[in-house]
Amino acid sequence: MEIIRGTGVAEGVVCGKIRLIRRRIQTQPSQKYGGDPESEMSAFRRGCDVLTAELTVLGRKTKETAGEAEAEIFDIHRMMLEDEGFTEPTEHRIKNGMGAQAAIAETGRELAELFSAMDDPYMKAREADIRGITERLIRILNGTEEMKLTFDTPVILAAEELTPAQTLELDSERVLGLVTEKGSSNSHTAILARSLGIPSITAAGNLSDTIDGREAILDGARGILYVDPTPEIVEEYRNAEYAAGKPDTEGFMHNEVLHTKGGKQIRIFANAGSLREVKAALAAGAEGIGLFRSEFLFMQYDRCPTEEEQFQVYRDLLQTMGEREVTIRTLDAGADKQIPWLNRDMCESNPALGLRAVRLCLANPRLLYTQLRALYRASAYGNLRVMIPLITIREELEQVQRIAENVRTGLKNDGISYKEAMPIGMMVETPSAALLADKLAKKAAFFSLGTNDLTQYTMAADRENASVSYLTECMPEAVAELIRITAEAAAKAGISVSVCGELASDKNAIPFLLDAGITTLSVSPGQIAGTRKTVIRHLSGTGES
Ligand code: PEP
Ligand code: MG
Repeated sequence: MEIIRGTGVAEGVVCGKIRLIRRRIQTQPSQKYGGDPESEMSAFRRGCDVLTAELTVLGRKTKETAGEAEAEIFDIHRMMLEDEGFTEPTEHRIKNGMGAQAAIAETGRELAELFSAMDDPYMKAREADIRGITERLIRILNGTEEMKLTFDTPVILAAEELTPAQTLELDSERVLGLVTEKGSSNSHTAILARSLGIPSITAAGNLSDTIDGREAILDGARGILYVDPTPEIVEEYRNAEYAAGKPDTEGFMHNEVLHTKGGKQIRIFANAGSLREVKAALAAGAEGIGLFRSEFLFMQYDRCPTEEEQFQVYRDLLQTMGEREVTIRTLDAGADKQIPWLNRDMCESNPALGLRAVRLCLANPRLLYTQLRALYRASAYGNLRVMIPLITIREELEQVQRIAENVRTGLKNDGISYKEAMPIGMMVETPSAALLADKLAKKAAFFSLGTNDLTQYTMAADRENASVSYLTECMPEAVAELIRITAEAAAKAGISVSVCGELASDKNAIPFLLDAGITTLSVSPGQIAGTRKTVIRHLSGTGES
Protein backbone atom coordinates (compact mmCIF):
# COMPACT_ATOMS: atom_id res chain seq x y z
CA MET A 1 0.00 0.00 0.00
CA GLU A 2 1.15 3.52 -0.75
CA ILE A 3 -0.12 6.45 1.32
CA ILE A 4 -0.28 9.90 -0.27
CA ARG A 5 -1.01 12.81 2.01
CA GLY A 6 -2.23 16.26 1.04
CA THR A 7 -4.73 18.84 2.21
CA GLY A 8 -8.29 17.58 2.46
CA VAL A 9 -10.44 20.25 0.79
CA ALA A 10 -13.74 18.48 0.17
CA GLU A 11 -15.09 15.93 2.61
CA GLY A 12 -16.19 12.42 1.83
CA VAL A 13 -14.68 8.98 1.34
CA VAL A 14 -14.66 7.24 -2.00
CA CYS A 15 -13.08 4.14 -3.40
CA GLY A 16 -12.22 3.48 -7.02
CA LYS A 17 -9.57 3.27 -9.72
CA ILE A 18 -7.14 6.16 -10.12
CA ARG A 19 -6.98 7.89 -13.47
CA LEU A 20 -3.89 10.08 -13.72
CA ILE A 21 -4.06 12.92 -16.23
CA ARG A 22 -0.93 14.67 -17.35
CA ARG A 23 -1.06 17.88 -19.32
CA ARG A 24 2.07 17.10 -21.21
CA ILE A 25 1.83 14.90 -24.24
CA GLN A 26 2.88 11.29 -23.78
CA THR A 27 4.55 9.73 -26.77
CA GLN A 28 4.46 6.00 -26.97
CA PRO A 29 7.97 4.63 -27.68
CA SER A 30 6.37 2.33 -30.24
CA GLN A 31 5.10 5.34 -32.16
CA LYS A 32 8.37 7.15 -31.99
CA TYR A 33 10.20 5.59 -34.92
CA GLY A 34 9.13 3.60 -37.89
CA GLY A 35 6.86 4.54 -40.72
CA ASP A 36 8.06 5.98 -43.93
CA PRO A 37 9.48 9.52 -43.52
CA GLU A 38 7.84 10.72 -46.68
CA SER A 39 4.33 9.77 -45.65
CA GLU A 40 5.01 11.00 -42.10
CA MET A 41 6.12 14.32 -43.60
CA SER A 42 3.01 14.67 -45.69
CA ALA A 43 0.86 13.72 -42.66
CA PHE A 44 2.55 16.53 -40.73
CA ARG A 45 1.98 19.06 -43.53
CA ARG A 46 -1.60 17.95 -44.02
CA GLY A 47 -2.22 18.32 -40.29
CA CYS A 48 -0.77 21.85 -40.37
CA ASP A 49 -3.04 22.75 -43.29
CA VAL A 50 -6.12 21.45 -41.47
CA LEU A 51 -5.25 23.30 -38.30
CA THR A 52 -4.46 26.51 -40.21
CA ALA A 53 -7.87 26.30 -41.89
CA GLU A 54 -9.59 25.69 -38.54
CA LEU A 55 -7.83 28.66 -36.97
CA THR A 56 -8.75 30.89 -39.90
CA VAL A 57 -12.44 30.01 -39.61
CA LEU A 58 -12.41 30.44 -35.85
CA GLY A 59 -10.66 33.80 -36.20
CA ARG A 60 -13.18 35.01 -38.78
CA LYS A 61 -16.17 33.94 -36.70
CA THR A 62 -14.76 35.56 -33.59
CA LYS A 63 -14.04 38.78 -35.46
CA GLU A 64 -17.65 38.92 -36.62
CA THR A 65 -19.20 38.16 -33.27
CA ALA A 66 -16.81 39.64 -30.75
CA GLY A 67 -14.43 41.97 -32.55
CA GLU A 68 -10.93 42.27 -33.91
CA ALA A 69 -9.06 42.20 -30.62
CA GLU A 70 -10.79 38.99 -29.51
CA ALA A 71 -9.90 37.28 -32.79
CA GLU A 72 -6.19 38.05 -32.54
CA ILE A 73 -5.30 34.93 -30.58
CA PHE A 74 -6.12 32.77 -33.60
CA ASP A 75 -3.70 34.80 -35.73
CA ILE A 76 -1.01 34.30 -33.09
CA HIS A 77 -1.61 30.55 -33.10
CA ARG A 78 -1.47 30.46 -36.89
CA MET A 79 1.80 32.36 -36.88
CA MET A 80 3.28 30.00 -34.30
CA LEU A 81 2.23 27.03 -36.38
CA GLU A 82 3.90 28.45 -39.49
CA ASP A 83 7.00 29.67 -37.69
CA GLU A 84 10.29 28.05 -38.72
CA GLY A 85 11.13 27.65 -35.06
CA PHE A 86 8.38 25.04 -34.99
CA THR A 87 8.35 23.57 -38.50
CA GLU A 88 12.10 23.13 -39.02
CA PRO A 89 12.96 21.02 -35.97
CA THR A 90 9.81 18.95 -36.50
CA GLU A 91 10.66 18.26 -40.14
CA HIS A 92 14.24 17.50 -39.18
CA ARG A 93 13.04 14.86 -36.72
CA ILE A 94 10.73 13.31 -39.28
CA LYS A 95 13.55 13.18 -41.85
CA ASN A 96 15.60 11.30 -39.26
CA GLY A 97 12.91 8.64 -39.01
CA MET A 98 10.70 9.86 -36.21
CA GLY A 99 6.91 9.50 -36.60
CA ALA A 100 5.05 12.77 -37.25
CA GLN A 101 3.12 12.76 -33.96
CA ALA A 102 6.19 12.02 -31.89
CA ALA A 103 8.17 14.70 -33.75
CA ILE A 104 5.46 17.30 -33.10
CA ALA A 105 5.34 16.30 -29.45
CA GLU A 106 9.13 16.53 -29.06
CA THR A 107 9.32 19.95 -30.71
CA GLY A 108 6.32 21.15 -28.73
CA ARG A 109 7.88 20.03 -25.48
CA GLU A 110 11.20 21.65 -26.34
CA LEU A 111 9.57 24.99 -27.24
CA ALA A 112 7.28 24.92 -24.21
CA GLU A 113 10.29 24.47 -21.96
CA LEU A 114 12.06 27.31 -23.75
CA PHE A 115 9.11 29.67 -23.31
CA SER A 116 8.53 28.70 -19.71
CA ALA A 117 12.17 29.54 -18.86
CA MET A 118 11.88 33.07 -20.26
CA ASP A 119 11.71 36.08 -17.96
CA ASP A 120 9.36 38.14 -20.10
CA PRO A 121 5.85 37.28 -18.82
CA TYR A 122 4.39 37.65 -22.33
CA MET A 123 6.81 35.08 -23.75
CA LYS A 124 6.34 32.86 -20.70
CA ALA A 125 2.60 32.79 -21.35
CA ARG A 126 3.25 31.44 -24.86
CA GLU A 127 4.08 28.09 -23.25
CA ALA A 128 0.36 27.33 -22.95
CA ASP A 129 -0.16 28.36 -26.58
CA ILE A 130 2.50 26.05 -27.95
CA ARG A 131 1.21 23.18 -25.84
CA GLY A 132 -2.31 23.86 -27.09
CA ILE A 133 -1.22 23.94 -30.73
CA THR A 134 0.83 20.76 -30.58
CA GLU A 135 -1.86 18.85 -28.68
CA ARG A 136 -4.42 19.90 -31.24
CA LEU A 137 -2.19 19.02 -34.15
CA ILE A 138 -1.58 15.55 -32.75
CA ARG A 139 -5.32 15.06 -32.25
CA ILE A 140 -5.89 16.04 -35.86
CA LEU A 141 -3.25 13.55 -37.00
CA ASN A 142 -4.61 10.65 -35.01
CA GLY A 143 -8.20 11.60 -35.64
CA THR A 144 -9.24 11.73 -31.99
CA GLU A 145 -11.54 14.23 -30.36
CA GLU A 146 -10.26 17.02 -28.16
CA MET A 147 -9.35 15.53 -24.78
CA LYS A 148 -12.11 16.24 -22.32
CA LEU A 149 -12.18 15.16 -18.72
CA THR A 150 -15.00 12.73 -19.31
CA PHE A 151 -14.75 9.07 -18.40
CA ASP A 152 -16.58 5.87 -19.33
CA THR A 153 -16.29 4.42 -15.85
CA PRO A 154 -16.11 6.08 -12.44
CA VAL A 155 -12.60 7.19 -11.49
CA ILE A 156 -10.60 8.96 -8.84
CA LEU A 157 -9.07 11.70 -10.95
CA ALA A 158 -5.44 12.59 -10.26
CA ALA A 159 -3.73 15.55 -11.93
CA GLU A 160 -1.03 18.14 -11.48
CA GLU A 161 -3.80 20.68 -11.18
CA LEU A 162 -7.02 21.50 -13.01
CA THR A 163 -8.14 24.86 -14.23
CA PRO A 164 -11.37 26.24 -12.73
CA ALA A 165 -13.01 25.76 -16.15
CA GLN A 166 -12.00 22.08 -16.28
CA THR A 167 -13.27 21.51 -12.75
CA LEU A 168 -16.57 23.09 -13.58
CA GLU A 169 -17.07 20.58 -16.39
CA LEU A 170 -16.36 17.51 -14.28
CA ASP A 171 -19.14 14.98 -14.19
CA SER A 172 -19.64 14.25 -10.49
CA GLU A 173 -21.25 10.91 -11.39
CA ARG A 174 -18.02 9.72 -13.00
CA VAL A 175 -15.38 11.62 -11.05
CA LEU A 176 -15.69 10.04 -7.62
CA GLY A 177 -12.81 11.95 -6.11
CA LEU A 178 -10.07 14.35 -7.05
CA VAL A 179 -6.44 14.58 -6.03
CA THR A 180 -4.12 17.30 -7.29
CA GLU A 181 -0.43 17.93 -6.80
CA LYS A 182 -0.92 21.67 -6.25
CA GLY A 183 -3.51 24.05 -4.79
CA SER A 184 -4.93 24.97 -1.40
CA SER A 185 -8.32 24.92 0.28
CA ASN A 186 -9.16 28.42 -0.97
CA SER A 187 -8.13 27.79 -4.57
CA HIS A 188 -10.95 27.95 -7.07
CA THR A 189 -10.52 24.30 -8.02
CA ALA A 190 -11.03 23.31 -4.38
CA ILE A 191 -14.03 25.62 -4.04
CA LEU A 192 -15.63 24.16 -7.15
CA ALA A 193 -14.91 20.57 -6.11
CA ARG A 194 -16.67 21.22 -2.80
CA SER A 195 -19.52 22.78 -4.62
CA LEU A 196 -19.85 19.74 -6.89
CA GLY A 197 -19.63 17.48 -3.84
CA ILE A 198 -16.49 15.71 -5.10
CA PRO A 199 -14.26 14.54 -2.21
CA SER A 200 -10.89 16.13 -2.90
CA ILE A 201 -7.30 16.46 -1.81
CA THR A 202 -4.93 19.19 -2.97
CA ALA A 203 -1.21 19.83 -2.39
CA ALA A 204 -0.49 16.11 -2.61
CA GLY A 205 3.04 16.69 -3.95
CA ASN A 206 4.47 14.89 -6.97
CA LEU A 207 2.19 12.08 -8.04
CA SER A 208 4.04 9.18 -9.58
CA ASP A 209 2.87 7.88 -12.96
CA THR A 210 2.73 4.43 -11.38
CA ILE A 211 -0.49 5.23 -9.47
CA ASP A 212 -2.46 5.34 -12.72
CA GLY A 213 -5.02 2.54 -12.90
CA ARG A 214 -4.54 1.35 -9.31
CA GLU A 215 -7.33 0.90 -6.77
CA ALA A 216 -7.49 3.52 -4.04
CA ILE A 217 -9.47 4.91 -1.15
CA LEU A 218 -9.62 8.71 -0.98
CA ASP A 219 -10.49 10.31 2.33
CA GLY A 220 -11.28 13.95 1.61
CA ALA A 221 -11.66 14.98 5.24
CA ARG A 222 -8.26 13.63 6.31
CA GLY A 223 -6.52 14.45 3.04
CA ILE A 224 -5.27 10.88 2.51
CA LEU A 225 -5.15 8.72 -0.59
CA TYR A 226 -4.50 5.02 0.07
CA VAL A 227 -3.20 3.44 -3.12
CA ASP A 228 -3.75 -0.35 -3.18
CA PRO A 229 -5.18 -0.21 0.34
CA THR A 230 -4.49 -3.16 2.62
CA PRO A 231 -7.43 -5.37 3.63
CA GLU A 232 -7.21 -3.77 7.11
CA ILE A 233 -7.70 -0.25 5.70
CA VAL A 234 -10.54 -1.43 3.48
CA GLU A 235 -12.13 -3.05 6.51
CA GLU A 236 -11.65 0.07 8.62
CA TYR A 237 -13.47 2.21 6.09
CA ARG A 238 -16.09 -0.44 5.47
CA ASN A 239 -16.84 -0.57 9.20
CA ALA A 240 -17.24 3.16 9.22
CA GLU A 241 -19.54 2.67 6.22
CA TYR A 242 -17.45 5.15 4.33
CA ALA A 243 -18.77 7.82 6.64
CA ALA A 244 -15.38 8.81 8.02
CA GLY A 245 -15.35 12.16 6.31
CA LYS A 246 -19.03 12.75 5.88
CA PRO A 247 -20.55 15.41 8.06
CA ASP A 248 -23.51 14.21 10.08
CA THR A 249 -26.04 16.63 8.68
CA GLU A 250 -29.15 14.57 8.33
CA GLY A 251 -32.23 16.59 9.18
CA PHE A 252 -30.49 19.92 8.58
CA MET A 253 -31.31 20.31 4.92
CA HIS A 254 -34.45 22.45 4.92
CA ASN A 255 -36.76 23.30 7.75
CA GLU A 256 -37.54 26.37 9.74
CA VAL A 257 -36.48 29.98 9.28
CA LEU A 258 -33.55 30.76 11.56
CA HIS A 259 -33.57 33.72 13.95
CA THR A 260 -31.12 35.09 16.48
CA LYS A 261 -32.28 35.73 20.05
CA GLY A 262 -32.66 39.38 19.06
CA GLY A 263 -35.08 38.36 16.29
CA LYS A 264 -32.75 38.88 13.34
CA GLN A 265 -33.24 36.39 10.53
CA ILE A 266 -30.22 34.31 9.53
CA ARG A 267 -30.26 33.07 5.96
CA ILE A 268 -28.25 30.26 4.39
CA PHE A 269 -27.64 31.00 0.73
CA ALA A 270 -25.54 29.25 -1.89
CA ASN A 271 -22.60 30.11 -4.11
CA ALA A 272 -22.81 28.85 -7.67
CA GLY A 273 -21.11 29.20 -11.03
CA SER A 274 -23.59 27.51 -13.34
CA LEU A 275 -27.26 26.69 -13.65
CA ARG A 276 -26.41 23.11 -12.71
CA GLU A 277 -25.05 24.31 -9.38
CA VAL A 278 -28.03 26.60 -8.84
CA LYS A 279 -30.33 23.60 -9.19
CA ALA A 280 -28.16 21.59 -6.80
CA ALA A 281 -28.32 24.51 -4.35
CA LEU A 282 -32.11 24.61 -4.49
CA ALA A 283 -32.30 20.87 -3.93
CA ALA A 284 -29.99 21.27 -0.92
CA GLY A 285 -32.27 23.88 0.64
CA ALA A 286 -30.60 27.17 -0.34
CA GLU A 287 -32.77 30.15 0.56
CA GLY A 288 -31.19 32.21 -2.19
CA ILE A 289 -28.02 32.61 -4.25
CA GLY A 290 -25.54 34.82 -2.43
CA LEU A 291 -22.85 34.66 -5.10
CA PHE A 292 -23.17 33.65 -8.72
CA ARG A 293 -19.66 33.70 -10.19
CA SER A 294 -20.41 34.96 -13.70
CA GLU A 295 -16.83 34.41 -14.88
CA PHE A 296 -17.56 30.71 -15.38
CA LEU A 297 -20.08 31.67 -18.01
CA PHE A 298 -17.42 33.77 -19.76
CA MET A 299 -15.00 30.84 -19.64
CA GLN A 300 -17.29 28.75 -21.79
CA TYR A 301 -16.72 31.01 -24.78
CA ASP A 302 -13.68 31.74 -26.91
CA ARG A 303 -14.92 35.33 -27.18
CA CYS A 304 -17.02 37.70 -25.15
CA PRO A 305 -20.55 36.29 -24.77
CA THR A 306 -23.06 38.65 -26.33
CA GLU A 307 -25.67 40.61 -24.36
CA GLU A 308 -28.36 38.21 -25.56
CA GLU A 309 -26.38 35.09 -24.61
CA GLN A 310 -25.72 36.48 -21.15
CA PHE A 311 -29.29 37.69 -20.70
CA GLN A 312 -30.68 34.21 -21.38
CA VAL A 313 -28.47 32.61 -18.73
CA TYR A 314 -29.25 35.27 -16.10
CA ARG A 315 -32.97 35.11 -16.86
CA ASP A 316 -33.01 31.27 -16.61
CA LEU A 317 -31.19 31.49 -13.33
CA LEU A 318 -33.66 34.00 -11.90
CA GLN A 319 -36.64 32.02 -13.11
CA THR A 320 -35.20 28.87 -11.51
CA MET A 321 -34.94 30.67 -8.18
CA GLY A 322 -38.44 32.19 -8.35
CA GLU A 323 -38.89 34.91 -5.73
CA ARG A 324 -35.71 34.06 -3.87
CA GLU A 325 -32.93 36.64 -3.80
CA VAL A 326 -30.15 36.11 -6.35
CA THR A 327 -26.86 38.01 -6.29
CA ILE A 328 -24.92 37.87 -9.54
CA ARG A 329 -21.35 39.07 -9.44
CA THR A 330 -20.00 40.91 -12.46
CA LEU A 331 -17.02 39.37 -14.20
CA ASP A 332 -14.19 38.51 -11.80
CA ALA A 333 -11.52 37.44 -14.29
CA GLY A 334 -7.76 37.53 -13.97
CA ALA A 335 -5.27 36.11 -11.46
CA ASP A 336 -6.12 32.41 -11.08
CA LYS A 337 -9.24 32.75 -13.22
CA GLN A 338 -7.69 33.42 -16.59
CA ILE A 339 -9.99 33.79 -19.56
CA PRO A 340 -7.79 33.24 -22.62
CA TRP A 341 -9.55 35.64 -25.00
CA LEU A 342 -9.54 38.38 -22.38
CA ASN A 343 -6.33 37.95 -20.44
CA ARG A 344 -3.98 36.78 -23.16
CA ASP A 345 -2.23 40.08 -23.82
CA MET A 346 -1.63 40.84 -20.21
CA CYS A 347 1.99 40.56 -19.16
CA GLU A 348 1.64 40.90 -15.43
CA SER A 349 4.33 39.62 -13.14
CA ASN A 350 1.90 39.65 -10.23
CA PRO A 351 -1.60 39.00 -11.58
CA ALA A 352 -3.32 38.74 -8.17
CA LEU A 353 -2.30 42.36 -7.59
CA GLY A 354 -2.94 43.42 -11.15
CA LEU A 355 -5.71 44.17 -13.57
CA ARG A 356 -8.30 41.68 -12.34
CA ALA A 357 -12.00 41.76 -11.46
CA VAL A 358 -13.55 45.26 -11.49
CA ARG A 359 -10.23 46.78 -12.54
CA LEU A 360 -10.23 44.71 -15.71
CA CYS A 361 -13.89 45.59 -16.35
CA LEU A 362 -13.25 49.29 -15.94
CA ALA A 363 -10.37 48.97 -18.38
CA ASN A 364 -12.87 47.37 -20.81
CA PRO A 365 -15.95 49.52 -20.16
CA ARG A 366 -17.77 48.12 -23.20
CA LEU A 367 -17.60 44.65 -21.69
CA LEU A 368 -18.99 45.90 -18.37
CA TYR A 369 -21.70 47.89 -20.15
CA THR A 370 -22.82 44.77 -22.02
CA GLN A 371 -22.87 42.65 -18.89
CA LEU A 372 -24.79 45.26 -16.90
CA ARG A 373 -27.29 45.66 -19.72
CA ALA A 374 -27.89 41.89 -19.79
CA LEU A 375 -28.27 41.92 -16.00
CA TYR A 376 -30.70 44.85 -15.97
CA ARG A 377 -32.80 43.13 -18.65
CA ALA A 378 -32.84 39.95 -16.55
CA SER A 379 -33.83 41.93 -13.44
CA ALA A 380 -37.40 42.01 -14.73
CA TYR A 381 -37.61 38.22 -14.18
CA GLY A 382 -36.82 37.85 -10.49
CA ASN A 383 -35.25 39.22 -7.34
CA LEU A 384 -31.82 40.25 -8.61
CA ARG A 385 -28.94 42.09 -6.98
CA VAL A 386 -25.68 42.83 -8.76
CA MET A 387 -22.37 42.67 -6.96
CA ILE A 388 -19.04 44.20 -7.98
CA PRO A 389 -15.86 42.27 -7.10
CA LEU A 390 -12.60 43.60 -5.69
CA ILE A 391 -13.63 47.20 -5.05
CA THR A 392 -10.61 48.83 -3.45
CA ILE A 393 -11.48 52.54 -3.53
CA ARG A 394 -14.73 54.51 -3.72
CA GLU A 395 -14.02 55.83 -7.22
CA GLU A 396 -14.22 52.34 -8.68
CA LEU A 397 -17.73 51.88 -7.37
CA GLU A 398 -18.69 55.34 -8.60
CA GLN A 399 -17.40 54.54 -12.09
CA VAL A 400 -19.44 51.34 -12.18
CA GLN A 401 -22.50 53.28 -11.03
CA ARG A 402 -22.04 55.79 -13.85
CA ILE A 403 -21.91 52.96 -16.39
CA ALA A 404 -25.02 51.44 -14.79
CA GLU A 405 -26.78 54.78 -15.17
CA ASN A 406 -25.92 54.84 -18.89
CA VAL A 407 -27.26 51.32 -19.21
CA ARG A 408 -30.57 52.32 -17.61
CA THR A 409 -30.86 55.34 -19.91
CA GLY A 410 -30.18 53.15 -22.93
CA LEU A 411 -32.80 50.58 -21.91
CA LYS A 412 -35.33 53.32 -21.24
CA ASN A 413 -34.71 54.80 -24.68
CA ASP A 414 -35.06 51.36 -26.26
CA GLY A 415 -38.31 50.72 -24.39
CA ILE A 416 -36.93 47.57 -22.72
CA SER A 417 -38.24 46.71 -19.27
CA TYR A 418 -35.96 46.37 -16.24
CA LYS A 419 -36.02 47.07 -12.52
CA GLU A 420 -34.95 50.64 -11.86
CA ALA A 421 -34.15 49.89 -8.21
CA MET A 422 -32.04 46.78 -8.75
CA PRO A 423 -29.48 47.00 -5.91
CA ILE A 424 -25.82 47.30 -6.84
CA GLY A 425 -23.58 46.22 -3.99
CA MET A 426 -19.96 45.28 -3.62
CA MET A 427 -17.65 42.65 -2.31
CA VAL A 428 -15.45 43.57 0.59
CA GLU A 429 -12.38 41.52 -0.20
CA THR A 430 -9.49 43.94 0.09
CA PRO A 431 -8.20 45.37 3.37
CA SER A 432 -8.66 48.82 1.82
CA ALA A 433 -12.38 48.26 1.27
CA ALA A 434 -12.83 46.98 4.81
CA LEU A 435 -10.99 49.96 6.27
CA LEU A 436 -13.05 52.33 4.11
CA ALA A 437 -16.29 50.46 4.83
CA ASP A 438 -17.86 53.49 6.54
CA LYS A 439 -17.48 55.58 3.38
CA LEU A 440 -18.27 52.77 0.94
CA ALA A 441 -21.46 51.89 2.84
CA LYS A 442 -22.86 55.25 1.76
CA LYS A 443 -22.41 54.27 -1.89
CA ALA A 444 -23.07 50.53 -1.97
CA ALA A 445 -26.50 48.93 -1.65
CA PHE A 446 -25.01 45.99 0.27
CA PHE A 447 -21.75 44.36 1.28
CA SER A 448 -20.63 40.78 0.87
CA LEU A 449 -17.38 39.72 2.47
CA GLY A 450 -15.16 37.74 0.14
CA THR A 451 -13.07 36.21 2.85
CA ASN A 452 -10.93 34.16 0.46
CA ASP A 453 -9.37 37.20 -1.14
CA LEU A 454 -9.66 39.29 2.01
CA THR A 455 -7.50 36.67 3.74
CA GLN A 456 -5.06 36.44 0.82
CA TYR A 457 -4.54 40.20 0.68
CA THR A 458 -4.49 40.77 4.43
CA MET A 459 -2.02 37.98 5.12
CA ALA A 460 0.04 38.56 1.94
CA ALA A 461 -0.37 34.83 1.28
CA ASP A 462 -1.30 33.51 -2.16
CA ARG A 463 -4.52 31.52 -1.82
CA GLU A 464 -3.21 29.00 -4.38
CA ASN A 465 0.07 28.37 -2.63
CA ALA A 466 0.05 25.45 -0.23
CA SER A 467 3.34 26.42 1.39
CA VAL A 468 1.87 29.58 2.92
CA SER A 469 -1.53 28.14 3.77
CA TYR A 470 -0.53 27.98 7.46
CA LEU A 471 -1.11 31.75 7.45
CA THR A 472 -4.62 31.50 6.10
CA GLU A 473 -6.13 28.24 7.27
CA CYS A 474 -7.97 29.31 10.41
CA MET A 475 -9.57 32.74 10.42
CA PRO A 476 -6.57 34.97 11.17
CA GLU A 477 -7.01 37.64 13.86
CA ALA A 478 -6.39 40.47 11.42
CA VAL A 479 -9.09 39.17 9.07
CA ALA A 480 -11.54 38.86 11.97
CA GLU A 481 -10.85 42.50 12.81
CA LEU A 482 -11.57 43.62 9.23
CA ILE A 483 -14.81 41.61 9.22
CA ARG A 484 -15.85 43.27 12.47
CA ILE A 485 -15.11 46.76 11.04
CA THR A 486 -17.11 45.97 7.89
CA ALA A 487 -20.10 44.56 9.77
CA GLU A 488 -20.17 47.57 12.08
CA ALA A 489 -20.07 50.03 9.17
CA ALA A 490 -22.86 48.14 7.41
CA ALA A 491 -25.03 48.16 10.53
CA LYS A 492 -24.44 51.88 11.00
CA ALA A 493 -25.43 52.61 7.40
CA GLY A 494 -28.36 50.19 7.52
CA ILE A 495 -27.20 47.99 4.65
CA SER A 496 -27.02 44.19 4.68
CA VAL A 497 -23.76 42.32 5.01
CA SER A 498 -23.19 38.71 4.11
CA VAL A 499 -20.18 36.42 3.83
CA CYS A 500 -19.67 34.51 0.59
CA GLY A 501 -16.06 33.40 1.08
CA GLU A 502 -15.19 29.96 2.40
CA LEU A 503 -15.28 31.19 6.01
CA ALA A 504 -19.08 31.19 5.74
CA SER A 505 -19.08 27.39 6.02
CA ASP A 506 -16.26 27.11 8.52
CA LYS A 507 -17.77 25.80 11.72
CA ASN A 508 -15.10 27.48 13.81
CA ALA A 509 -15.74 30.88 12.20
CA ILE A 510 -19.56 30.84 12.06
CA PRO A 511 -20.15 31.75 15.74
CA PHE A 512 -17.86 34.76 15.36
CA LEU A 513 -19.56 35.84 12.10
CA LEU A 514 -23.04 35.63 13.60
CA ASP A 515 -21.98 37.49 16.73
CA ALA A 516 -20.40 40.17 14.53
CA GLY A 517 -23.80 40.82 12.91
CA ILE A 518 -23.55 38.83 9.69
CA THR A 519 -27.04 37.77 8.69
CA THR A 520 -26.46 35.81 5.49
CA LEU A 521 -23.97 33.00 4.94
CA SER A 522 -23.48 31.98 1.34
CA VAL A 523 -21.80 28.61 0.90
CA SER A 524 -21.24 25.82 -1.65
CA PRO A 525 -24.38 23.72 -2.20
CA GLY A 526 -22.68 20.77 -0.53
CA GLN A 527 -22.04 22.83 2.62
CA ILE A 528 -25.58 24.10 3.17
CA ALA A 529 -26.73 21.37 5.56
CA GLY A 530 -23.52 21.48 7.61
CA THR A 531 -23.65 25.28 7.82
CA ARG A 532 -27.30 25.22 8.87
CA LYS A 533 -26.44 22.69 11.55
CA THR A 534 -23.64 24.86 12.98
CA VAL A 535 -25.87 27.95 12.92
CA ILE A 536 -28.73 26.14 14.70
CA ARG A 537 -26.35 24.81 17.34
CA HIS A 538 -24.90 28.26 17.91
CA LEU A 539 -28.24 30.06 18.03
CA SER A 540 -29.66 27.53 20.45
CA GLY A 541 -26.62 27.93 22.67
CA THR A 542 -25.54 24.30 22.39
CA GLY A 543 -22.21 25.42 21.00
CA GLU A 544 -19.86 22.91 19.38
CA SER A 545 -21.33 20.98 16.51
C1 PEP B 1 -13.73 35.52 -2.08
O1 PEP B 1 -12.71 36.06 -2.50
O2 PEP B 1 -13.91 35.21 -0.88
C2 PEP B 1 -14.82 35.19 -3.00
C3 PEP B 1 -15.98 34.73 -2.58
O3 PEP B 1 -14.59 35.32 -4.34
P1 PEP B 1 -13.71 34.29 -5.20
O4 PEP B 1 -13.44 33.09 -4.31
O5 PEP B 1 -14.50 33.93 -6.38
O6 PEP B 1 -12.50 35.07 -5.50
MG1 MG C 1 -12.67 36.98 -4.46
